Amino acid sequence: MRKQVIAGNWKMNKVISEADQFVEKAKNEVPSEEQVESVVCAPFPFLQSLVEKTEGTPLKVGAQNMHFEESGAFTGEVSPVMLKDLGVTYVVLGHSERREIFKETDEDVNKKVHAAFKHGLTPIICVGETLEQRESNQTKDHVESQVKNALESLSDDQVKQVIIAYEPIWAIGTGKTASAEDANEVCTHIRNVVKDFSSEAAAEAVRIQYGGSVKPANVDELLGQSDIDGALVGGASLEAESFLKLVEAGKHE
Ligand code: PGA
Repeated sequence: MRKQVIAGNWKMNKVISEADQFVEKAKNEVPSEEQVESVVCAPFPFLQSLVEKTEGTPLKVGAQNMHFEESGAFTGEVSPVMLKDLGVTYVVLGHSERREIFKETDEDVNKKVHAAFKHGLTPIICVGETLEQRESNQTKDHVESQVKNALESLSDDQVKQVIIAYEPIWAIGTGKTASAEDANEVCTHIRNVVKDFSSEAAAEAVRIQYGGSVKPANVDELLGQSDIDGALVGGASLEAESFLKLVEAGKHE
C-alpha cells in the first residue's frame, strides 16, 4: 500500500516568527512517519529554522522551488546543494504559479527533477490543466505531456520515488475543488502514463497527490480515491490546526 503524503505549500506567506510557531504546534502532533508523510514547504528564509526545530520529529521540511545548477552566477537563485546542506528533504517543482508567472518550462522542470535526485531531495512535481484546457477536453493530453517531459531520462528507480501533484489550475486558491471522481480519473490516467513510460512497478510505487482547494471538509473523500495518495495544500495548510486535520486524514494504521 502506498503511504499518503500530505504537503503544505505556504507559498509567499508568513514571517519567520509565524513559521516557527506553526512548527512548534505541529511537530509533535503529526502522526508517525510510518503512518503518513507530513511535509511543510516553506519560503527559503524560514528553512534553516524549520529544519532545526523539526529535527527528530515526523514533520519534514520542503522548499517550493530551486534552480537546477549547483552554484554560479544566477543572482537571486537557490541551488539544490544549498537546500540539501540545510537538511531540506523535499522540493516542489513546476508549480503552476512558477510555470505561469515565472515562465518555467517543462524542460526547466525536468532539469530540476534531475538535480533534485542528484542531491538526494524528493521532488514533488506539479502538473495540471487550465480551465480552458479542461473545457476543451484537453486535460488528459496536457497532463500526460507534462508528466512525460518531467520524467524524461529518469531511471525506473527514480520514477518510483517521485511524487506527482495533480493540481487543476482552476481549482487552486479558488475554493473550487475537482470532484473526487474527476480528480481520481486524472490521477489514474497519470499512473497509466507512468506505466507506459516507465514500468508497471514504477506506476504502482509512484505517489500521486491531488491539489486545489483541499481542506479538512473535503480531504477524506479525495484521499479515499484509488489513485490519490496524498494532497498538496495551500490555503488550508497555513494554520497548524487545519494542517493537522489534513495529515490525520492521510494516516493509516
Ligand atoms: P490551494 O493551493 O490549496 O490554496 O488551492 C494548492 C496549491 O497551489 O498547491
